[in-house]
Amino acid sequence: MKVHPPAHVTGLKCSLCDATYAHAHVFTCPRCGEQGILDVQYDYDAIRTQLLPALGRRAFDHWRYREVLPISPDLQLPPLHIGWTPVYEAPRLAKLLGLQRMFLKDDGRNPTNSFKDRASSIGVLKAIEFGFDTIACASTGNAASSLAGLAASVGLKSFIFVPERAPEPKITQLLIFGATVLKVKGTYEQAFDLCKRACDEFGWYNRNSGTNPFLVEGKKTAGLEIAEQFGKSLPDWVVVSVGDGCTIGGIGKGLHEMKQLGIIDRVPRLLGVQAEGAKPILTSFLSGKDLVPTDTHTLADSIAVGTPRNWRRAVRQIKLSHGAMIAVSDEEILDAMRETARLGAVFGEPAGIAGVAGLKKAIATGIVKPNESAVAVITGNGLKDVHSAKQAAGQPISVEPDLPALKKALKV
Ligand SMILES: *Cc1c(COP(=O)(O)O)cnc(C)c1O
Ligand SMILES: [Zn+2]
Repeated sequence: MKVHPPAHVTGLKCSLCDATYAHAHVFTCPRCGEQGILDVQYDYDAIRTQLLPALGRRAFDHWRYREVLPISPDLQLPPLHIGWTPVYEAPRLAKLLGLQRMFLKDDGRNPTNSFKDRASSIGVLKAIEFGFDTIACASTGNAASSLAGLAASVGLKSFIFVPERAPEPKITQLLIFGATVLKVKGTYEQAFDLCKRACDEFGWYNRNSGTNPFLVEGKKTAGLEIAEQFGKSLPDWVVVSVGDGCTIGGIGKGLHEMKQLGIIDRVPRLLGVQAEGAKPILTSFLSGKDLVPTDTHTLADSIAVGTPRNWRRAVRQIKLSHGAMIAVSDEEILDAMRETARLGAVFGEPAGIAGVAGLKKAIATGIVKPNESAVAVITGNGLKDVHSAKQAAGQPISVEPDLPALKKALKV
């Protein structure tokens, strides 16, 4: 099958040396190597004339923005519902945090229950476009389970490299979708390198979003949606947890594109939140220096990234938005998990909730002002990591099956 390239992509631009390359099956800049992350460029004038009139007729999923995505018009889209995740106002949570208005965008509602489905859905289409029948990735969990689910939806084979400490529910999710799972006896970084070498050796398509220029384009759809969902009443802050940096970098790009297309007239400030035990991007954001890899110690496994690949994009987008970064402890994450569930009724995994914990701290430290508004993107569902959730949730009350015992137990 002859597959045409994406209609509106004009090239791939290196974020280090500014060289521009034609759209092709490439990863990083040949001149700059690993550090030369490529950014997909588009013809926004052509996009404006096609996308804007079409939006009113389109289904509410992330393919409604197909003109600003690097996907071929010839390919059938995966059948799963990706994106257009709900935004809820959470006034009781706002009150607790000391904020005027607060919203939760629940990306745990994606088909495999995390934000990563936005990227994987692009990844499987690129694999098909470039003629691959197998796709692989290394992941702490969500990128992998997402890839396994999306590969199943389009009939691709998948190989997943996971570090030893990945939570059990996430591994089970991989296996049920039919992925071949390789548990690497080592860290995430070692799993990442082994996956890359295997892709080169066996001719598999590499989904690793840190360096694959197309995947981050899927992540930006959350930014496109926030712009359209809020329109004129855009909040002051968009709060996102940060591991590799692709999510916040993508959301920033999406918001800027919506400004460029005239759908919003300003870009909200980005608040990037890392875990205290895994904050190399925060350190680099504050020092202005190049990233120094670190060890990681946090229960928020999805953002436990010691060697982030896309840190420049993250830092650049946060600075461009006049935003800020902050780090939170595991204890603050567990508190926020409980509070977000009880006062906002959204149950997120630790990395999914880290943003709320960071927002709380940013308000307490004066970065975010009480008269401002914010939307926190809840990037993954709480059932992804029941072990951590149990630490936040507490224990049930055991009771004999009779009313007096119940009264005694409830102290009424
Ligand atoms: C991957 C992930 C993140 C962070 O995204 P990066 O692109 O690595 O910064 C945050 N939360 C969850 C639940 C994730 O799976
Ligand atoms: Zn370059």
